[in-house]
Amino acid sequence: MDNNNGSENAAPDTARSTKDDKLKWILRSGWKGICPRCGEGHMFKSWLKLTDKCEVCGLDYRFAAPDDGPAFFSQCIVAFPLLFVVVWLEVAYHPPFWVHLVFSVPLMLAGCILPLRPIKGWLVASQYVNKAQEAGTEGLWAKLHGSEDHASPAGSDKRD
Ligand SMILES: [Zn+2]
Repeated sequence: MDNNNGSENAAPDTARSTKDDKLKWILRSGWKGICPRCGEGHMFKSWLKLTDKCEVCGLDYRFAAPDDGPAFFSQCIVAFPLLFVVVWLEVAYHPPFWVHLVFSVPLMLAGCILPLRPIKGWLVASQYVNKAQEAGTEGLWAKLHGSEDHASPAGSDKRD
């Protein structure tokens, strides 16, 4: 509709078509705990501690809020089905107490602890990607839409 000189109108399409790629990238880098920028460095310096800086590309991880709250919340969702397994075990088999000790307790612990790292990785990676996306498209969006300050079309429903 608005006739800019054709130099910039490829960018919004690109942003839309790479959305799936970005999600894949977030999932992959989060799952592997690798740097969301270069994909080579490591995101964590210990089990759940973020590194300060990517050793490959120098990405500063201070952009990521060092907040385990969302990760902790998310892991509860993962652990929740496991609780059903344990309850089902109890109801279906009435196992002796030691069965819970050797089976249920480790299962619950694993269900709580193991997802924590990929979840945190996903959160950090998505923070990075979204921030990079905002920084990259904000100026362009403003340029295309003049002065009107609309909510961004893609990421308007984020709430953290
Ligand atoms: Zn890196």
